[in-house]
Order: sequence, then C-alpha cells, then structure tokens
Amino acid sequence: MKTEGPQVVEQTLNPFHICQRQVLGACQALGLEPAVYEILKQPLRVMEIAVPVAMDDGRVETFIGWRSQHNDALGPYKGGLRFHPEVTMDEVKALSMWMTFKCAVLALPYGGGKGAVRCDPRRLSRGELERLSRGFIQRVSPIVGPDKDIPAPDVYTNPQIMAWMVDEFSRIREYNTFGLMTGKPLILGGSAGRSEATGRGCVYTCLEAMKRLGIPVEGARVVVQGFGNAGSVAARLMHERGARVIAVNDSRGSIFNGQGLEPAAVLEYKAQTGSVVGFPGAAAISNDELLQLECEVLIPAAMENQITARIAGGVQARIIGEAANGPTTPEADQILFDRGRLVLPDILASAGGVTVSYFEWVQNQSGYYWPEEEINQKLEIWMVRAFNHVFQMFQEQKVPMRHAAFMQAVKRVADGMRVRGWLG
Ligand code: GLU
Repeated sequence: MKTEGPQVVEQTLNPFHICQRQVLGACQALGLEPAVYEILKQPLRVMEIAVPVAMDDGRVETFIGWRSQHNDALGPYKGGLRFHPEVTMDEVKALSMWMTFKCAVLALPYGGGKGAVRCDPRRLSRGELERLSRGFIQRVSPIVGPDKDIPAPDVYTNPQIMAWMVDEFSRIREYNTFGLMTGKPLILGGSAGRSEATGRGCVYTCLEAMKRLGIPVEGARVVVQGFGNAGSVAARLMHERGARVIAVNDSRGSIFNGQGLEPAAVLEYKAQTGSVVGFPGAAAISNDELLQLECEVLIPAAMENQITARIAGGVQARIIGEAANGPTTPEADQILFDRGRLVLPDILASAGGVTVSYFEWVQNQSGYYWPEEEINQKLEIWMVRAFNHVFQMFQEQKVPMRHAAFMQAVKRVADGMRVRGWLG
C-alpha cells in the first residue's frame, strides 16, 4: 500500500510514534486500503483543558489535562484517566490508540479513548484531589457520557476519583449517570472484581501461555515490575497458584528473594512504609537487574518504555506478560522475538481491566449486578478466547504475538469502519 508512514526516527521512544508504527505494520500485513491507516493514524478528537484548582494554602493552581478520543467505529470511546506529573499529550494520544485495539482484540463493543492530568496526586491533599477531579469532569463533560465516552481508572487514579467524577457529572446532567465511569466503588454501581481485573486478566494470559509452552506453574519463577494495582494483584495470584515470586519493585527500588516473596506481606509492608524497599529478608537490586533476572515469567506492570533495546538482550524470562501499557519498545520487541521469548502484548495481556469495565457498564445499564465469582469466570473466558485467537495467528504466520494481536484488532476496526461507510 502507498500510505505514507509516520515520520519516525529509529529508536524513538515517543509512544505515539511507536503506536503508529504498530498500526501501519498491521495495515500493510493485512493489505488494507490506504483509508484505514489514514483514519487510524491519529485520534479523531483531542481536547486539551486547563483546570484551575483552589489549593489549601489559598493559591489557585492550574493543571493541564487532555481527553483523547481515538476511534469509535465499534462503540463509545473507552479508556482510563491518568494523573501523572510527566504525562504528555502524545502519551495520551498513544494510550487512546492502544485502547481502540485493546478493546478490539477482546471484541468489546467499544472504541478507544484516554485522558490525563499533569499533576502529582501524591502531593495533593484529599480536598485538592477532589476539586481537581470535579474540575476535570466539568471541562470534558460535553464530550463524555455512558453512550459517548466512558473513562476509568489508570495510573494514580482510583475508585474514589471515579466517584467524585460521577457525582459531579450527575449534578451537571441532573440525574444519576453511574454508567459514565467504570472502576467505581461498589456502593456506587461498581463491579465486583473490577479492582483486581487488570492483574487477574494478565495472570490468565500468562497461565495460558505457560500451558502452551509446557512450563509448570508450580515453582515457576515470576518477576513483577511495578507493585501497584496491576502488579501486586498479578504477584498475589501467581503466588496463590504455586509460582515463586522472586522479585518485585516500585518507583523507589527493587527487592529480590530467590526463595520467593510473600506478595500479601509485601503489600502490607508497602501500605505501612510507602514502598517495597527494605522488605525484611529481601536483597536490594537495581531495576535493570530485576528485568534481566533468570525466571520463567516477567510481568512489566509499571510504565511505558521499560524494556528497551539495551535491556532486551539480557532478558531471561520465557514469557513476558505486559500488564502495563507500552512497556516494551519496538526494537526490544524484535530482539525478544529473535531470542525466542514470548511477549504477551499489552493490548491482550492488560485487557482484563477494560473487560471487567465492560461488565460493569453492562451491569449499570441493566441495573442487575453479578457476583464476583461470575465476573471472574467470565473474565477468564474472554481472556482465554482472545489469547487463543492471537496465539493461533502467531503460530500460523510466525509473527510476534504483538503483530498478530494488532492484525486482528486493526482488521476488526477496519471492518467496522467499512460497513459504516467511512472508507469511501
Ligand atoms: N486504564 C485501563 C487500561 O489501560 C482500564 C481502562 C478501562 O477500564 O476503561 O486498560
């Protein structure tokens, strides 16, 4: 096809350019008409907002934020909301694109969106955080809603923030719109199982991959980068199934114990001290050492661009289950593929969260709530089905799992756009 690709330099770490390359690669492999990439190469809409917040000390501070809506051919935009001091607009654009394809890999009836506010929530008081959350949703209220665009938690946002936003939006609309956000507290229409869903979904794909590669779970060595919502749950669930979690880390440092850590105890320690660093009986290691430890499964569950070309040559894990968005750079991806490592791509392995978000939204729309057991069973069915589709293509076409996942997702979105008459 003649479509011009993104203007990228090799080794780029800009997630927006990385995502464009992934999409272009899938369009070319599928031999799609140029209109597909022409539409998918950027979000359909990006709203930039400024949110002035009355701070506790009497000052007014303005925070910059965005909501990026990539594509809604298959349903309302869907995706999280990130509060982070270093977030950029390109990052938000990329994350919204990844959401389109994540939802498509799982066959969810959604498009992709993402939002962010540049702030450090760890340095805001509860009142400041609440005012910022309410201010954000006021600004984006014209473009979001249960049938338009449905935000959810992401890095450093949580059910309480979702609750403030639902409350504010309900006030603006003058009726209760619980279906606006997912990842809400249970009492406000949240779903059982949602808070664990990203970690749990990642574990389901890792277990499936281990089965395919003939790696027994009992005693398997697991390394988890990032001990937040996704990472800590993934560590605990792998441990519960008999695997040995030998190393974990957070933004302050990494800990290692070859005999295996007790994830629940590490979580408790982190709750008390603010970090996993210094956990009794564990040795301090560096982040690079953690990523290159000898192990069966590595779960990057932190931020983008963690496994770079510099790191990839030394990665020992047989399986890399991406619970984070965009943790592996394209160059690293190729190195891992050439070295026979199986990368379970983010748009598959981190899709558990949005899948249970979908269940939450369905429950809100119908007003009928399901027990946790049913949620987890359904999640497993959806994750394993998506894994099998991608794995089949990986085996048949001998391409990296990520490429296979993008091909399936892009084809689905293209089919949707074609029948809607968007492709000319
Ligand atoms: N922020 C999560 C993700 O990146 C969940 C999104 C959602 O539930 O809509 O997949």
